Amino acid sequence: MVKIFIDPGHGGVDSGATGNGLLEKNVTLQIALLVRKYLTAYEHVTIKMSRTSDKTVTLSARTNEANNWGADYFLSIHINAGGGTGFESYIYSRLSSSGETAKCRNIIHNEIVKVNELRDRGKKQGNLHVLRESMMSSMLTENGFIDTKADAEKMKDKKWLETVAKAHADGLAKVFHLKKKAHKDDRYTMTKNTPGYYTAEDAKKGKNKKSTMLPGKYYIYKQASGMINITKQKGVPGSWIDPKGRK
Ligand SMILES: [Zn+2]
Repeated sequence: MVKIFIDPGHGGVDSGATGNGLLEKNVTLQIALLVRKYLTAYEHVTIKMSRTSDKTVTLSARTNEANNWGADYFLSIHINAGGGTGFESYIYSRLSSSGETAKCRNIIHNEIVKVNELRDRGKKQGNLHVLRESMMSSMLTENGFIDTKADAEKMKDKKWLETVAKAHADGLAKVFHLKKKAHKDDRYTMTKNTPGYYTAEDAKKGKNKKSTMLPGKYYIYKQASGMINITKQKGVPGSWIDPKGRK
């Protein structure tokens, strides 16, 4: 299980930056909740958030929770202010720019700037509490300037929030090699008689054959290590097969 800790910046009595009728705490929460939503489409990932509502949470409470939980990654989401424009990301200032944390950040940063339609202000380093006090790899994103009209307009657009959140999730999926869960209504068409097995492991090895699966349309119940579990009854486990058709 990969443990991802998502930290929407600010909250409660701390609004964060403000501008153009927006409060940073609300924008960060919207993005963070969407990141969680997109991450749940992946297998073997479990998510915790420093807050899921407009709640006051201290910086040390955030890092303590992630540290005690043993998170594999700490992702902090913020909105910038101060009259600039664009997107930037941070890792802790004392880390090497070629280390593991930097590599992860680069992957996620690149996924985000591909789609966020904001100027790329660069991959930065900073001495910020959540980056310094978190024991795992961590990154903080600054998703545009709330006090710059063009950036703020984007933050008011639900589609943009979804795009930015999905890019955060896609980046994390890349870093941790996460695989998408099969959808219950995904179909699989079998064109020839194929051996079915009790487990994905058996299917992979071609051992302990359970049955012969006949050609036809099936639902995909589950996927694991290149093998798929196909079933005639949607949502009910069937048999494991090797989709590459190994005998
Ligand atoms: Zn902030």
